[in-house]
Amino acid sequence: MVQFASQHNLCLSVAGTGHDFLHRHSLDGSLFVRTSLMKSVEWTSGGVVVGPGLTFAELHYAASKANRSLASGWATTVGIVGWSLGGGHGPLSPKLGLGSDQILGVQVVGPDGSLYTATETGTRRVGLDGKVEESGATDLLWAVRGGGGSTWGVITSLTLKTHDLPQGGYTSVSASLAGDLCSGEGTLLGLLDTYLAWAMTLDENWGGLAWFTPQKSNGTCSVVWSFNLIYLYQGSSSDPTFKATLQDLLNGAPALQPQVTTYPDMWSIVLTKALEPIIPVSYLAPSGTMPGGLPSILISRETVADGSLSQTLKSQIHNCFAQNCYSYQFYQDITGNINSPQDPNVSVNPGMRSAIFHLVVILPTLQDVPTFYKLGEYSYFSESAFSMDSWQNRYWGPNYPRLLQIKQTMDPQNKFWCHHCVGDTSL
Ligand SMILES: Cc1cc2nc3c(=O)[nH]c(=O)nc-3n(C[C@H](O)[C@H](O)[C@H](O)COP(=O)(O)OP(=O)(O)OC[C@H]3O[C@@H](n4cnc5c(N)ncnc54)[C@H](O)[C@@H]3O)c2cc1C
Repeated sequence: MVQFASQHNLCLSVAGTGHDFLHRHSLDGSLFVRTSLMKSVEWTSGGVVVGPGLTFAELHYAASKANRSLASGWATTVGIVGWSLGGGHGPLSPKLGLGSDQILGVQVVGPDGSLYTATETGTRRVGLDGKVEESGATDLLWAVRGGGGSTWGVITSLTLKTHDLPQGGYTSVSASLAGDLCSGEGTLLGLLDTYLAWAMTLDENWGGLAWFTPQKSNGTCSVVWSFNLIYLYQGSSSDPTFKATLQDLLNGAPALQPQVTTYPDMWSIVLTKALEPIIPVSYLAPSGTMPGGLPSILISRETVADGSLSQTLKSQIHNCFAQNCYSYQFYQDITGNINSPQDPNVSVNPGMRSAIFHLVVILPTLQDVPTFYKLGEYSYFSESAFSMDSWQNRYWGPNYPRLLQIKQTMDPQNKFWCHHCVGDTSL
């Protein structure tokens, strides 16, 4: 197909699940390749070699049969390629690393139809004429470790790290609380401070997310709120450190009544979830007043410690009475926890390492977005706003020039193009 596209001067677009929030898998007038049926799984001594059509539910099922663990996102229907190439955060990432950290090797049909196999020891290229070139270059592997999908060619397989199952299994903690802002503003803001202080103490065994959602209401108070938290601890609920850490949270927020459940593997957790259809997600389009997509800010520990995060959110929450009201999702599932692994050989931005949270704000106006971007220089590529100034820096920081150079060498005609991807020239 890539050869056909090349002969007919067509661009190419690729999708696995179609879950990309910014429709990066779609390009009008292009030849569209869908990989959903490529679901091979091969366990080897050097990792697991997977087809590009696999979703996390399928991967966790395969891992449970092999008695191994794999890093993944939260939703069962997300696909392995978009998640891994975009950086990929998830409940196990503070300990196992990001999606990009899992990639040990990749096979790609490049824009010229050549088959590239890139590993940590070099790159092999088989041209359309059958000519084989081998080199010790690791540029392509580095580029796919965070440089995003739709950019380098059609990924036909990934070789991923596999991990031991944690002793004692996976312990899930969930809790929620609700109130209104008239009588309960102090409770909500206190909860915010308690949560932030607690999150700062967590080590690599904890990965989770918390939502703070104030909302306009027609009830007796014009703003109601809810707080939800779900964390996964890699270990047993009887571990003394688990108990002590959970108790720290409850000391600051005694009203929380957490539900605690331990599972032997991630597949057992998948089985507790409702079935989800694997269909392209609704695209959050930009408008005259909205940036589109999901604005993301990678929040450093310093921004939490110096109080600027708390101060900004408290003032935004209070503004709910008179102005716009937003929901805040704190993903503490990247690699900024205490003792998290931080492999430097990846192309994700430095914030994916130094940040404690990937904060998603739902859904701020174009006017309010800059207030949130002031909290952090970087954003997460796969969950971010459609319209975003300085997107090259927010996604890749100092890695962008090298990524662009690799892209221009591999795909000089930009046959693989997507919105705010490496090589895009739009604002
Ligand atoms: C319900 C839901 C939950 C999510 N949860 C998380 C989460 O917990 N953690 C997280 O990090 N992210 C999460 N995301 C974001 C997710 O990581 C991105 O949407 C990601 O792009 C999805 O990848 P995909 O392969 O499933 O989707 P697709 O839309 O199929 O692909 C995503 C991108 O990769 C490209 N691509 C796909 N396959 C190939 C291929 N074979 N070769 C080359 N390029 C390819 C596509 O062109 C597109 O640019 C979630 C998204 C949804 C919809």
